Parts: sequence; C-alpha cells; structure tokens
Amino acid sequence: MSEAKSAADLLRHLHRLHRQINDLKDRLSRGPRQIKAGEAAVAACEKACTDAAEKLKKARLAADDKQLQLKTREQRVEDTQAKLNTASSNREFDALKEQIAADKQANEVLSDEILEALEHIDELVEKTEIVKENLVAREKEHVALTQQVEERTALITPDLERVQAELTEVEKELPPDMRQEYQRIIKAKGEDGLAPADGESCGGCYQTLSPQIMNELYLNNHVVCAACGAWIYLPEDRKLNR
Ligand SMILES: [Zn+2]
Repeated sequence: MSEAKSAADLLRHLHRLHRQINDLKDRLSRGPRQIKAGEAAVAACEKACTDAAEKLKKARLAADDKQLQLKTREQRVEDTQAKLNTASSNREFDALKEQIAADKQANEVLSDEILEALEHIDELVEKTEIVKENLVAREKEHVALTQQVEERTALITPDLERVQAELTEVEKELPPDMRQEYQRIIKAKGEDGLAPADGESCGGCYQTLSPQIMNELYLNNHVVCAACGAWIYLPEDRKLNR
C-alpha cells in the first residue's frame, strides 16, 4: 500500500464506488419495472374496453330480440282482431277478445322492458366511452414513461461504466495478497463487504468493536468485523495514529 494513501483511504474510496455502482444499478433496474407496470396498466384498460364492448353488444342483441318479439306479438293482436269479424259464435268472439286483452297487457310489459333495455344501453355506451378514454390516456402515459426510462438509461449507463472503470483502477491499489479475499467478501456481501467504523461499532452490523480492534484500525491495519465479516475502515473524520 502506498504511503500517500492509507488503508482507510483506499477502503473508503472502494466503498464509495461500490455504493455508487449499486445506486446507479438500482436506478437502471427501476426502468424495466416501471415499464412492466405500465404495460400491465395498459393491458388492464384494454381488457376493460373489450369487456365493455362485449357487454354493450350483448345488451343490444337482447334489446333487438325483445323488439322483434314485440313486433310479432303486435302482429298477432292485429291478426286476432281481424278474426273478430269472422267469429262464428259469441263464445269464440269473447275468447278472441280475451286473447287480445291478454296479448296487449303482455306487450305493455314487454314495451317497458324494451325502454329499460334502451336506457341500460345508453349507460353502457357512456361507460364504453369512458374506458376508451382511459385507455388512450394510459397509452399516452406509457409512451411518456418509456421515453423517460430511455432518457434516464442513456444518462445513467455511461455514469455506471465510468464508476465501474474507476473501481477496477482503484482495486489495483489493493495489495496483491489481499485481492482474492477482497473479491470473495464483495462477491458474498456486495457493498456491505466494506463498513466504516461507527463510533466503536461496525457500521455494517453495529457489533461493538473491541478496544484492540479499534487500536488496529488506528494503526492502519487490516481489520475484519468478527460478527459480519466486513472489512472495517475508519471514516474520514477520524485520524490514524502515525
Ligand atoms: Zn460487522
């Protein structure tokens, strides 16, 4: 290790770079997650549109059916009325009259049902319009989001590459006999493989560090937290004993 740079300086620098890299990676990975969520929202709106259209179609078919039914029944009333003139007996005449009255009553009920069905169709048309508008708005939002993510990725990626290159350079400052162990702890714990001393504790796991360990730290010696295995270093505001 060079005289100019203490072990604390080096570990502090490495830790800062690891944290920067993780932060940048975090921000990068947020993009695909946001896009996925946006796609799901658009798909939900599309489904709402399909469902609304299907419901409307069914309601229209049902209303058409009832209207056709009404027409047929009205025709029957007319036919029965025509038969009144040719009734061969009073009894037949009365029976025809009764049938006409019953049909007319049934037709009134059917007419009411048709009115209700038409009102329901109006409501469904309105709902269909609303879900269509929602879909358009969602799609617009998604286009904007996608663009945002692309812009952010374009900004962060070179930053990440720069910090990663810097890390590779700074790692070369580690004494060769420590590099393998350093790689192992970073692989196992990521940025938590390095921890500043927080008072008299490990800044990673808050385990108290013994006076002897603290002493080693002040002497610029390599110190590993007995509890979490992190490499401990002194923060910038704490001076080494030289
Ligand atoms: Zn620890």
